Amino acid sequence: RMVRLRERLSRSGALGRGILGLLTRGSGVDEATWDEIEETLLMADLGPDATDELLENLRRRIQVLGTDDPAAVREALREELLTLIDPSLDRRLAATRRDAPDGTVLPSVILMVGVNGTGKTTTVGKLARVLVAAERSVVLGAADTFRAAAAEQLTTWGSRVGVDTVRSDREGADPAAVAFDSVRTGIEQEVDVVIIDTAGRLQNKKGLMDELGKVRRVAEKGLHGDKVAEVLLVIDATTGQNGMQQARVFSEAVDITGIVLTKLDGTAKGGIVVNVQRELGVPVKMVGLGEGVDDLTPFDPHGFVDALLG
Ligand code: GDP
Repeated sequence: RMVRLRERLSRSGALGRGILGLLTRGSGVDEATWDEIEETLLMADLGPDATDELLENLRRRIQVLGTDDPAAVREALREELLTLIDPSLDRRLAATRRDAPDGTVLPSVILMVGVNGTGKTTTVGKLARVLVAAERSVVLGAADTFRAAAAEQLTTWGSRVGVDTVRSDREGADPAAVAFDSVRTGIEQEVDVVIIDTAGRLQNKKGLMDELGKVRRVAEKGLHGDKVAEVLLVIDATTGQNGMQQARVFSEAVDITGIVLTKLDGTAKGGIVVNVQRELGVPVKMVGLGEGVDDLTPFDPHGFVDALLG
C-alpha cells in the first residue's frame, strides 16, 4: 500500500527531492540556497505562511545539527513537514448509524460540496466503495439536479459499487427535496451512511449559502432534527491559487468538517495539503489518487510525508 501511494505521488516527491538536493550539496547551506529552497516550497503550493515557518525551523535545526549529512537533514525535514500537516488532527469520518431516542435508526449523513470538475461525483462513488469495503451500508443522493448528466453519472457509480442512488426524474428538481428523499430512504433501509452529492456551480457566497444551507436544513429535517455528520469540501489539488479561492467561498458559505483533496496523483505540488488545512482550518481527511474506483484513500500524514520526500 505504501509503495503504491509513493508510486501515485511520485510527482509530489519532487518537493522533498528538490529540497534535500539543495540542503545536502556538501558545501554548507548559504543564503542563496535558502532562497532556492523558499522558491521550491512556494512553487509546491505550500503557501507563504507555512513556507516561512518551515524555513525558520529548518534553518534552526540544520544549525543545531551542524552537518548536512543527508540522513540527518532528511529526518529534520520529515519531522518539520509532519508538524505542519499535524498528525494529531482527527481525520476519521463519521460513518456509523445511530439509534434515535424513539427507536429510529438514523444514518450518518455526509454532504459533498465543491466546484464542478474537482472530482466531486467521482469521489462520492469512491467513498461509497471505501465504506462498503469497511462493511458499511450506503445510499447515495443525487442532489446535483442542476447538471443534467450528474444524476446519471452518480447512478452509474452507485451500480458499480453496489449501492442504491436516490434521484429525481425531473431535471432541475429542488436539490433539497432530493436530499430529503435520500435521507428518508437511508432511514427506511437502515443504512449506516447517506452520501449526498450537491451542485457545484460557481456562484456568489450568498447564493451558495442559501442553496447549501437549505439542502442541509432539509436533510436535517429528514433526520428528525439530528445533525448532518460531515460536510466534506472537495478540492482539486492541481488548481493552485484559483482552486483555493473557490474553496474559500464554499467554506465561508457552509461549515465544513473536512477536506477531500483529489488528483494528488497528477501534481508535483504536494504542499497544497498544508495550505488548504491552514487556510480552511479543517483537516484533509481523504485523498484522491486516480480515476479508478479504488483510488480514494484516508489521508495518512506519515505515508504522505514519506511520499513527499521521494
Ligand atoms: P465533478 O464535476 O466535481 O463531479 O467532477 P467529476 O467527478 O465528474 O470528475 C471530473 C474529472 O476528474 C473526471 O474525469 C474524473 O475521472 C477526474 N478525477 C476525479 N478524481 C480524480 C483523482 O483523484 N485523480 C485523477 N487523476 N483524476 C480524478
